[in-house]
Amino acid sequence: AAARAEKFDTAAIQRQDTAHYMHPFTDHQALGGKGVRVMVRGEGIYLWDSEGNKVLDGMSGLWCVNVGYGRTSISQAVYKQMETLPFYNSFFNTTNLPAVQLAAKLAEISPPRFQHVFFTGSGSEGNDTNVRMVRRYWDLLGQPARKVIISRHNAYHGSTMAGASLGGMDGMHAQGGLPIPDIVHIGQPSYLESGRGMTPDEFGVAAAGWLEQKILEVGADKVAAFIGEPVQGAGGVIIPPATYWPEIQRICDKYGILLIADEVICGFGRTGRWFASELFGMRPDLITFAKGVTSGYVPLGGVLVGDRVARVLIEQGGEFNHGFTYSGHPVACAAALENIRIIESEGLVDRVANDTGPYLERRFAELADHPLVGYADSCGFVAGLNLVKAKAAAVHDHELFDPALEVGMVCRGHMFGNGMIMRAVGDRMIIAPPLVMTRAQIDEMVALIRHCLDLTH
Ligand code: PLP
Repeated sequence: AAARAEKFDTAAIQRQDTAHYMHPFTDHQALGGKGVRVMVRGEGIYLWDSEGNKVLDGMSGLWCVNVGYGRTSISQAVYKQMETLPFYNSFFNTTNLPAVQLAAKLAEISPPRFQHVFFTGSGSEGNDTNVRMVRRYWDLLGQPARKVIISRHNAYHGSTMAGASLGGMDGMHAQGGLPIPDIVHIGQPSYLESGRGMTPDEFGVAAAGWLEQKILEVGADKVAAFIGEPVQGAGGVIIPPATYWPEIQRICDKYGILLIADEVICGFGRTGRWFASELFGMRPDLITFAKGVTSGYVPLGGVLVGDRVARVLIEQGGEFNHGFTYSGHPVACAAALENIRIIESEGLVDRVANDTGPYLERRFAELADHPLVGYADSCGFVAGLNLVKAKAAAVHDHELFDPALEVGMVCRGHMFGNGMIMRAVGDRMIIAPPLVMTRAQIDEMVALIRHCLDLTH
């Protein structure tokens, strides 16, 4: 109640922000000295800014606030852990209770072959850990030439040197001489971009075939792993055809290559399973997680290590010279345990699979009747639509906007000004709402989106 009544001097906060705060992924000049919006409070699926405006957060913060804002049981768990033991590391023959309990819990909710967890502070660190782990694995098996990791254009795997290299974002590669050696990329399974003349299923097999081509080009005895997000998130919610991942899995098996599923966005219920690899028929050897593991309340990430890799590292590896001060941070792990307890007790994974997920899919698909929307699709609680200038009978024939017009950003601006957070990736508008969103709130969100599309039209 105190926070609700609090008055903020927005202009003063913005001046301080401009003077001192270097924001991630931000062109400060483009802001033109205009202050950015100051978010001060969250409750459920809503945020409030310093001017008292209410906003529906269609992005769960940054795809992470799965259980919604304002969960006092998480803050209480964090407070209690801070009072009891705010920090202790798990190097040098020690461990801590929340980290052990969380490792066991993650083993319980993930597919049976995942019995081990390596904790990090973020998703980027999780993917750096993957790079070191898979190369170590092949070294230990006497195949040190297997170093190359294959990823995809437009993938997002984090912002560290290895994370940004694994990612396939041209803008990131252009800054700082990335990618680092032995990381190569293939095309993304975007039916809209590359599927002309094919059914989605035909395209899924064709796009997976790019992996085999790349393996043969690099040399199968040099390839260590393939990494992919089950549904590409930051690249624009690219939902692959059903045939894609089973074919990728077949190719990885054929050449003995490790498969890494980056589930930083997809994990913890977002697609109606604990992990989306279960939905897509993937059998990954490693799973990167972060975000939804704590619903973003406290930073935490890591890698679920499947038996194939764990056995070699643990039984043959000796010391793995890798780890972070905050690996297994007790406060973060306590937050995660309470977050997972909430997801379980409220049946959120099941709700997304069988109730609100299908409902969102149906309501979101209706937006395709809007003159500006060429294509709308979703998978559980991630969804995206493409803005088009004029529609044609077939999706590949729609007339597109000139990218220079940045129609997505215009649309995003209308949303933001009208109480709705929806992200623009080029001309694709995407959402990933909190998993607690109800049917009535889905209706409210879809109506808001439609209203803002009308304003953009
Ligand atoms: N992997 C994926 C799929 C992500 O979406 C992200 C962040 O958005 C990351 C990795 C990086 O995680 P972090 O920002 O916690 O380092």
